[in-house]
Amino acid sequence: MTFESLGLKTELVKAVENKGYTIPSPIQEKAIPLVLEGRDVLASAQTGTGKTAGFTLPMLQILTSLPIKHNRPIRGIVLTPTRELAAQVYENVVEYSEYVNIKSTVIFGGVKQKAQVRTLQQGIDILVATPGRLLDLISQGFISLKNIEILVLDEADRMLDMGFLRDIKKLLSMMPNKKQSLLFSATFSKEIKKLANSFLQNPILVEATPENSTAEKVNQKVIKVDQGRKGELAIKLIKEGGWKQVLIFTRTKHGANKLTQKLNKAKITAAAIHGNKSQGARTRALAGFKENKVRVLVATDIAARGLDIPLLPHVINFELPNIAEDYVHRIGRTGRAGASGEALSLVCADETPYLGEIEKLLGENLPFEIIDDFEPKDKFQGKPASMQGKRQNQRNRAKKRGKSNWKNKK
Ligand code: AMP
Repeated sequence: MTFESLGLKTELVKAVENKGYTIPSPIQEKAIPLVLEGRDVLASAQTGTGKTAGFTLPMLQILTSLPIKHNRPIRGIVLTPTRELAAQVYENVVEYSEYVNIKSTVIFGGVKQKAQVRTLQQGIDILVATPGRLLDLISQGFISLKNIEILVLDEADRMLDMGFLRDIKKLLSMMPNKKQSLLFSATFSKEIKKLANSFLQNPILVEATPENSTAEKVNQKVIKVDQGRKGELAIKLIKEGGWKQVLIFTRTKHGANKLTQKLNKAKITAAAIHGNKSQGARTRALAGFKENKVRVLVATDIAARGLDIPLLPHVINFELPNIAEDYVHRIGRTGRAGASGEALSLVCADETPYLGEIEKLLGENLPFEIIDDFEPKDKFQGKPASMQGKRQNQRNRAKKRGKSNWKNKK
């Protein structure tokens, strides 16, 4: 399968090839022809599957084949939950539109709006935006969504987690009913399905990975350890493993700062990325990490959302997320685009219920380990999470074999 055979024109294929990609990823193979046909698409795809090119390429093709009005109104819009993701999607739009006549820009909060407004006033075809700043600029009269032909809602599940549902509904009401809509989400809760039903018309469901499952290439492991010793253990793992690029997730901003300091003290270069950091600090941290100047990036869930870090070999969950779906997002940072990766979760006794929820969602129990000298002193109480996982696993296997009533057949 080639990008040409998906129906993309030479100018776009050339731009993709400039990035070194010759074979479409599964989500691209499925989504691109459907989007080109003009269909609404509901795509289950997490970061790392190549989803951005999956919607950007056909969007560029469609918009270049439609006539451009003299005042160049915005015709394509991509909504993302975070600034980082907006910046990354925009970067992709720019790269893929190198050989076509498409103007694009990105707007998000946290930076001055003046430069953004100036670019908008010159007329653009594709806008990548986070909901807050977009609504802000609309209310000031700088943006109209009346000419939207294609809408992409990227990482829709995270948008809802971040409380953007009302903003999204408001934005949808400002767009024409007749348009093509694409919704990308890593997980599919009831709320997402409801939102999708509210504006997608006769959508086709496209899946890059099975619903709510983790990428198979990610090697997942739980290490049981007391909370107070996690920092030391992380240092030991990184040093002894000689890990060069590690992404660590903490549950809180404060926790991210504290761990970053601890790592730096242990001579492991680390930077924190979270909501209290300025946009400049976040961009610098990410750039340093990508250039291998920073060995460890410590991030909270929201800040890390959609980070584009290709071939990330190690992810550590310093604390488990209390929303099980976030675990899927987190480990989606590793084992990306064909590379294998390892996701380690440092789990203390108090986190046993979270582990149970995660295993339930995954439908499997994660293998666990105890490291010498780091044996937990705190008791892991309650029903062992691994047992809950096992039971779910059996249920899933039974389902696969077509035995919905597995209980009766035991
Ligand atoms: P995404 O899921 O869009 O964040 O993409 C994940 C990573 O895969 C990014 O670094 C992309 O540039 C890269 N990528 C996208 N499409 C392909 C492809 N067809 N072959 C190899 N890598 C790709």
